[in-house]
Amino acid sequence: MSDELPKQYKKYVPQPDGLNLELHTRAVASGLLHIQRCVDCGQSRQPPRYYCQDCFSDNYDFVPVSGVGSIYSFAINHFTIDRAWIEELPYITAVVELAEGPRVVGALRNVEPGGVALGDAVTVSVEPRGENFAFIWVDLNSK
Ligand SMILES: [Zn+2]
Repeated sequence: MSDELPKQYKKYVPQPDGLNLELHTRAVASGLLHIQRCVDCGQSRQPPRYYCQDCFSDNYDFVPVSGVGSIYSFAINHFTIDRAWIEELPYITAVVELAEGPRVVGALRNVEPGGVALGDAVTVSVEPRGENFAFIWVDLNSK
């Protein structure tokens, strides 16, 4: 048996580009979750796209949203290819339907498998990592 401490792995920070880069830099700058919105018809959409699915406009903006929503779907992850996340296993990835309508994907915090159900009220927040990326976290609201 070795007396060496286990190697510490650094969590990979993705480098988004295009519209995802715009989305993340807004979140990093403000500390708030943002969603793309069509300037011409007001429709919100996620993930961001160059054209509105309702009116085909290419005028868009990114607006801050409350982060309030509910669990639309989730998956319990028992395996990761990124060694930095091994200590977090099992972790839960959730699809949250925001009060504003669009759905976002994030990671549930402080919840054991079995501690979450479809429809549970949650709050989504962002945690900047560097200048171009923010983790998207999901926290259960107290029941
Ligand atoms: Zn539109």
